[in-house]
Amino acid sequence: MNCPYCGYHSSKVIDSREVNDGIRRRRQCLSCNSRFTTYERLQSVSLFVIKKDERREEFNRDKLLTGIRKACEKRPLPTGTVDKLTDDIEAELYRLGKAEIPSTVIGDMVMERLKSMDYIAYIRFASVYREFTDITTLKQEVDTLISNEAGELHPTSQLQLLPDEELKTIAKGRQRSRK
Ligand SMILES: [Zn+2]
Repeated sequence: MNCPYCGYHSSKVIDSREVNDGIRRRRQCLSCNSRFTTYERLQSVSLFVIKKDERREEFNRDKLLTGIRKACEKRPLPTGTVDKLTDDIEAELYRLGKAEIPSTVIGDMVMERLKSMDYIAYIRFASVYREFTDITTLKQEVDTLISNEAGELHPTSQLQLLPDEELKTIAKGRQRSRK
């Protein structure tokens, strides 16, 4: 298992515990000292995702990681956030102890976490995952987030990030100034 941060081939186990049908190991890279988690389990308990069209597909961590990474692209999140989020969700999925999980459950898990982390990432993910077809639904979602977070924003720290521009692009017609 190579380090997900630097690719180094060797790590030490700093914590190990049994979870459902497997073992969860917390590891530390011997090169960059980053920490990451691995799960060892029997092949027979591999997890399948039930897609919207009822097809089954084996759970693919990379796919989940890619989706989250895309949503979090260029957002001011600490290094390792995307990997940790993916780890957390994967761990939770296996904790459920089920052979099959609807893709909607996974999507909701991601959205729930992104929502409390970064609302731009959340909107990006939601717009892909929920396939917002009509702009009204998306606008409602954006409005809700803005009213919830208006008091917590720090405009000066986001000057370079132009989140407003992005929101305007996503929810056309929405005009908003933040001073
Ligand atoms: Zn490393």
